[in-house]
Amino acid sequence: MAQTAAVQAAECRQCCAFCDRVLLPSGCIESACPYLYLYDDERSGRRFMGCLNKVFRVEIDVELFREAERTRHGFGGVKLTGTPLPRCRTAVERAYHGGGDAFECVNPGFFDEPVSEPAPEFDLRDRL
Ligand code: SF4
Ligand code: SF4
Repeated sequence: MAQTAAVQAAECRQCCAFCDRVLLPSGCIESACPYLYLYDDERSGRRFMGCLNKVFRVEIDVELFREAERTRHGFGGVKLTGTPLPRCRTAVERAYHGGGDAFECVNPGFFDEPVSEPAPEFDLRDRL
């Protein structure tokens, strides 16, 4: 199946390090992003959060997120599934570490901040 441009931009497999650009949800909360939604799941009684723009598609358990954020390494990142906006906080995570040519980066530009699209017009009243 053909990969989407967003997926191609979110991963690099040009050496054995296997890097992925991930979205850091901590940035969504700190910036009080209007695209961040919360909902309460009646069956589980859990609260989840997600991105209306689908910059990431997973829905994150808020309590687990807060617990992880209190640890030394924090919650970390989730898979990037869309084009990040200028306000989105991203990072690059390497899956494997090693020495020698097989782990020599041949795509250093992948570590640059992605070129973001401007945020679309967004007004909650449009949804009422
Ligand atoms: S648009 Fe970006 S900052 Fe806003 S909720 Fe989505 S991922 Fe987070
Ligand atoms: S280290 Fe560089 S070449 Fe290797 S996967 Fe990561 S970005 Fe790609």
